[in-house]
Amino acid sequence: MAIKSIVVVGAGQMGCGIAQVAAQCGFEVVLQDLRMDLVEQAMALLRAKLEKRLAKAEITQAQLAATLERIRPETGLEAAAGADLVIEAATECLEVKTQIFQTLDEIAPVGVILASNTSALSITALGAATRRPAQVVGMHFMNPVPVMTLVEVVRGLETSEATLAEVTDLARRLDKTPVVVKDSPGFVSNRLLMPMINEAIYCLSEGVASPSDIDRVMRLGMNHPLGPLALADLIGLDTCLAIMEVLYRDFADSKYRPCPLLRQMVRAGRLGRKSGQGFYSYFDPSVPGEKRE
Ligand code: NAD
Repeated sequence: MAIKSIVVVGAGQMGCGIAQVAAQCGFEVVLQDLRMDLVEQAMALLRAKLEKRLAKAEITQAQLAATLERIRPETGLEAAAGADLVIEAATECLEVKTQIFQTLDEIAPVGVILASNTSALSITALGAATRRPAQVVGMHFMNPVPVMTLVEVVRGLETSEATLAEVTDLARRLDKTPVVVKDSPGFVSNRLLMPMINEAIYCLSEGVASPSDIDRVMRLGMNHPLGPLALADLIGLDTCLAIMEVLYRDFADSKYRPCPLLRQMVRAGRLGRKSGQGFYSYFDPSVPGEKRE
């Protein structure tokens, strides 16, 4: 079946980005979150991003209007009854996602693929929460979704070949490059990235260097486009902590111990860009968080 319509669950930074890319590529999209003000906030952000692209002549006014018209805001999951595929991009929490997958399994017709954008959680466990584990798969988009070309396609223990073929094809139709990996904590991307970010936070907490110097070392020395602390702020410190907790628990290896400073920052509500304050301050949107040389 050729996929034409997609329900995106969770209208945070990732859901919003996935909805934008899918609508730009001609798919009919439902963007869902718990409350209408959250979805409307996401739609306003999306419009602002498209207007920036229009100002740079990357898209036309007609393309901007058509993209927005293809996205329908919703607060319930009932739209899954008419969707060709669902991509869940809600908060990184196994209980939240399990509940969503159970509900989606009740609503979406048999055979409809339920994909999760989880950063680290077990796709096998999400599949087991449904009666269709063969149609449950990871579609791990990168942040920011409109810019980054990778989609890590995660194969759960029960994910079928047909499901993998369908979602790798879909990733290509979204102008992305799929890489198929096995279900394993953090997959490949966050098993490599997140311990580096965690170690950067240890460096900071031990007073080895300032945030901007830690980031400068990795940008100028390793050619990373963004330093690890600025990247943590972009990802969201709550998401970073949730990923480290999965690596620490599932590998049962102390090398993945989340840095206590990361935990403290999350407890203080310093979540990075999304809360206005992380390792850098973002209260004035005209001032970039990380000073560039
Ligand atoms: P976010 O905090 O920006 O947004 C999460 C959204 O999910 C919020 O709007 C919240 O209201 C909504 N939500 C929570 N419970 C829900 C429910 N039961 N039903 C519907 N919506 C619900 O988070 P994000 O950064 O967009 O991350 C979303 C997912 O994508 C997470 O699984 C995360 O690990 C993954 N991810 C994040 C990044 C990143 O860089 N931030 C990259 C790749 C994948």
